[in-house]
Amino acid sequence: MKKKIVLISDFDGTISKKDFFYMVIDNLLKDKKDALAPWNDYLNGKIKHIDALTGIFSQIHLTQNELDKFISTIEIDPYFYDAAQYCMEKNIPFYICSAGTNYYIKKRISDELLKYNIVLISNDASYSQEEGMKLIAPAETSPYYNSNTGVSKQAIVQKLKDDGFFTIYAGDGKPDFKSAQIADVVFAKDMLLELCKQHGIKTQLFDNFSDILNYIRRTNV
Ligand SMILES: [Mg+2]
Repeated sequence: MKKKIVLISDFDGTISKKDFFYMVIDNLLKDKKDALAPWNDYLNGKIKHIDALTGIFSQIHLTQNELDKFISTIEIDPYFYDAAQYCMEKNIPFYICSAGTNYYIKKRISDELLKYNIVLISNDASYSQEEGMKLIAPAETSPYYNSNTGVSKQAIVQKLKDDGFFTIYAGDGKPDFKSAQIADVVFAKDMLLELCKQHGIKTQLFDNFSDILNYIRRTNV
């Protein structure tokens, strides 16, 4: 019997046009070099991914109202909605797994998560104007825990594979690489695309979600 498809996607830079942490650095923080230092420390292997994001987000000192307004400006791939609609109509499970935080994802696409039955698995976060945003990893006992990224995207993909699904993964960054290594089909852009090329992992053309939608339409017959 043919395997049932599942779509698993990263959020930042994949569903959204620009990583939230880059939006924060570019629009909210004055000293760009200082602001970006935690991210460079992560890329150089000095600190954990989750600590790099908290290092950047804790520099946000907007009022709650200002922060909510800022989150509402996160630009979403317009074809994401079409893909989500199609998946819902065809009973294709759609997971968003993010090593960012559900704090801004839920605020930005709360209606769509409900409307299209999308499962969101991400880190929690707290926010106060004084201390900024701090990411909270899942409990270490969670099957999706990873000490580096908090949520383990790879564990989510592996679980769905073990459940017998044909896994389609979409992502753009370094934290997506382990998922891309085990997914059945990979839609990759930016850093993830480079990593896949370096390691000989086949990827599909991925400019936006219409590429994924067209692939699923062709495959899900
Ligand atoms: Mg990303």
